[in-house]
Amino acid sequence: MTTSDADVLIIGAGSAGLSAALMLARSRRRVIVLDGGAPRNAVAAHMHGVLGRDGWSPLDLVATGRDEVARYGAIIESQRTVSAARDGELFVVGLADGRTLTARRLLFAGGLRDELPSIPGLAEHWGRGAAHCPYCDGWEVRDRRIAVLASGPASLHQVQLVRQLSAEVTYLTEGTELPEPDLAALVARDIAVETRRVASVVTTDGVLSGLRLHDGAELPVEAIFVRPRAIPADELLHDLGAASEAGPDDHAWITVDATGRTSIPGVWAAGNIVSPFATVPVSAAAGSTAGAAINADLVDDEIRSALERNRA
Ligand SMILES: Cc1cc2nc3c(=O)[nH]c(=O)nc-3n(C[C@H](O)[C@H](O)[C@H](O)COP(=O)(O)OP(=O)(O)OC[C@H]3O[C@@H](n4cnc5c(N)ncnc54)[C@H](O)[C@@H]3O)c2cc1C
Repeated sequence: MTTSDADVLIIGAGSAGLSAALMLARSRRRVIVLDGGAPRNAVAAHMHGVLGRDGWSPLDLVATGRDEVARYGAIIESQRTVSAARDGELFVVGLADGRTLTARRLLFAGGLRDELPSIPGLAEHWGRGAAHCPYCDGWEVRDRRIAVLASGPASLHQVQLVRQLSAEVTYLTEGTELPEPDLAALVARDIAVETRRVASVVTTDGVLSGLRLHDGAELPVEAIFVRPRAIPADELLHDLGAASEAGPDDHAWITVDATGRTSIPGVWAAGNIVSPFATVPVSAAAGSTAGAAINADLVDDEIRSALERNRA
């Protein structure tokens, strides 16, 4: 068998990549995890909806995960991956520091970047007063005055989820007239509708306290839910030629099977890089599944090689 630096190179040490690394390292695979050090939820002080770790800091979760994975011999490097190509039986991955590493299998778990609506003042509240996921951050603002910014059909669903948490919800249409059935569904659940555009976020003592509308009026709210544009870290998968299909945010999302296998033999992807709505536990489950599938795939290779050796 051709020698390589690792059996499996994992790109991304978030909940998906580290869960895969745990499965693989415990299966005595030689694992190297490369990480750019920017987990998507790093801006949030606490994470929620994560059984057994509800309220933990996201950074504590990945730090704990790194320790657990390292205990089984996996190597974790703070290093961005900048290229990936096949070379015979192996993959060659280029790192930001100019080195290259080879591996028998690749798992891409680089997550995604959130591109926020360009409202002045919004970014400084991201992960606190401004959020996107009612399951992650909704309970913390229950019964408060909450606004939901329209940014596509999914926003109508988002505002109805938020209404479950508070009776004082305003839907910001950003100047768009809603079709009658959509408007009726909002009015029926006592959701206020504001058609004036948002000019900026109002901050009082560092806390989000309202929204300045384009005519100068202020809408007092304590939280705003938005739907950022998702930009997955999938450039290298596209470079490798992995199949994709049109999905949310007009992006060509890499397609995977139930185990995270892409159309490229030997290449898997898991977590937000392929599933924009996956939360921490969902991403961890996808990584864990991919890790086990990669190990099984390597075992299949090893059976084939052993049979060939015996025949020879
Ligand atoms: C504000 C906010 C709050 C959230 N709150 C919650 C919550 O309360 N509960 C919950 O369950 N979910 C929450 N989420 C969702 C959560 O962030 C994601 O589900 C989770 O981070 C996805 O894990 P992942 O492993 O796919 O990606 P990530 O956690 O984003 O990890 C990906 C890693 O890959 C690295 N990377 C990317 N490209 C490269 C490259 N080329 N080379 C090397 N490394 C690379 C990145 O630097 C990063 O460290 C929240 C998200 C946001 C934005």
